[in-house]
Amino acid sequence: MPELPEVETIRRRLAPLVEGRTLRAMEIADPRWCEPLDPNALTDALVGRRVERLDRRGKYLIWETQDEVFLLMHLRMTGTVLYDPERATRYVRVRLTLDDGHRLSFADPRRFGTGELALGRPALDAFFQARLGLEPLGPHFTSDHLFTLTRNRRAPIKAFLLDQRRIAGVGNIYANEALFRARIHPLRATGQLKRSQVAALRDAVVGALSAGLDAGGASIDDFRHPDGVKGAFQNEFLVHGRDGEPCLVCGGTVVKFVAAGRGTYACERCQAKPRRRP
Ligand SMILES: [Zn+2]
Repeated sequence: MPELPEVETIRRRLAPLVEGRTLRAMEIADPRWCEPLDPNALTDALVGRRVERLDRRGKYLIWETQDEVFLLMHLRMTGTVLYDPERATRYVRVRLTLDDGHRLSFADPRRFGTGELALGRPALDAFFQARLGLEPLGPHFTSDHLFTLTRNRRAPIKAFLLDQRRIAGVGNIYANEALFRARIHPLRATGQLKRSQVAALRDAVVGALSAGLDAGGASIDDFRHPDGVKGAFQNEFLVHGRDGEPCLVCGGTVVKFVAAGRGTYACERCQAKPRRRP
């Protein structure tokens, strides 16, 4: 499912194609996409406006159009934005036409993706303030800042990493990969990590996300670039999806278990299990 590197990959490839273009038409084939907003209200607010900038925050793709009208797209499980899609593309929930005649489709087989509007920058800021924490590839994601955030947190570190209100954009794949890179077991209590471990984790999160970006994201299911091409990061996973296979560092066996309700992969030789309290 698309996490920060996948959404950012879409943004980087789409931005030069849509910025400066005017939205000529918009068809919402599945009204559930923008619930509780009326599809007509959403299209009325956007059609005829120029796209000033395509931006991203966490896993949200932000279409900034004229006069600070923002469309916030969340791709959730299986959403993809395709540029000039093939006619046979299935599961299309939203279609956009640009003033240069090019077309965009939001395809989403599982139909969990959402579209929301924010009118004015204060509304946009309030929207994200309520939902998202630090941007991990931004300047404020320092080890000191992360250390402060982790204090007095009793949840396992895996759950902490997945909480979008702490760090925005990290999902299951990148959490698994980052914890392995930092040699931290996913079930370790967040607040008990030492300063040096938090510093290693900060670097590991940035490292895993950057590696994902460099590979054009991971395509383990439906994720595609706007031109339909798959990402390649799935070929570089260190632990994710590799249960039963040898650890690339120590040769031990990668194991799978459930943490924070998600399939979690780790090498318990490299990532020492937390000790049980007596
Ligand atoms: Zn290992």
